[in-house]
Parts: sequence; C-alpha cells; structure tokens
Amino acid sequence: MIAKLPKIAFIGVLFFFLSGFISYKPSVPAKSQTTYVYICVTENSYAYHFDYYCRGLKQCKGEKRKVSLSDAKGKYKRKICGYED
Ligand SMILES: [Zn+2]
Repeated sequence: MIAKLPKIAFIGVLFFFLSGFISYKPSVPAKSQTTYVYICVTENSYAYHFDYYCRGLKQCKGEKRKVSLSDAKGKYKRKICGYED
C-alpha cells in the first residue's frame, strides 16, 4: 500500500500544476486586446468614459455608444472624462 502513495502524490502535484496553469493563463493581458470606452453621441459631447455608470455619462441625453479607445480619440475626437482623469 505504501508503494501506491508516491503515484497518488505525483498525480496530485500534476493536477496542482495543471490547475495553476489554467487559472494563471487568463490573467496574462493580451497586448492586441482592444480597450472599449463609452461615448455619448450628441453634438456637445466631448468626453469618453471607461465606466458606463460614470456620472458624466449619466448626463447624456442621447445615444450611448461603445467604441474602441482609438476611435473615441481619433474618429470622435473625445478626451478622457473629467471624472475619470
Ligand atoms: Zn466619465
């Protein structure tokens, strides 16, 4: 019976490493990942928001749109919201 113990221990250690590897993987940030922000699509809006529930965005009377950070800065010419700066 004692001879069986190392095998079980080995499987245990293997499982520990595998589960550790699996849980570690999603925490590695992908560099190509796009950051999305929220903008208010009205004429006098000038900011973009990381937080959809931001109080700046709450004042938005028009459509709220999710866009990429580069689009918010480039295409929509928005600046970071004063509450999130
Ligand atoms: Zn904001």
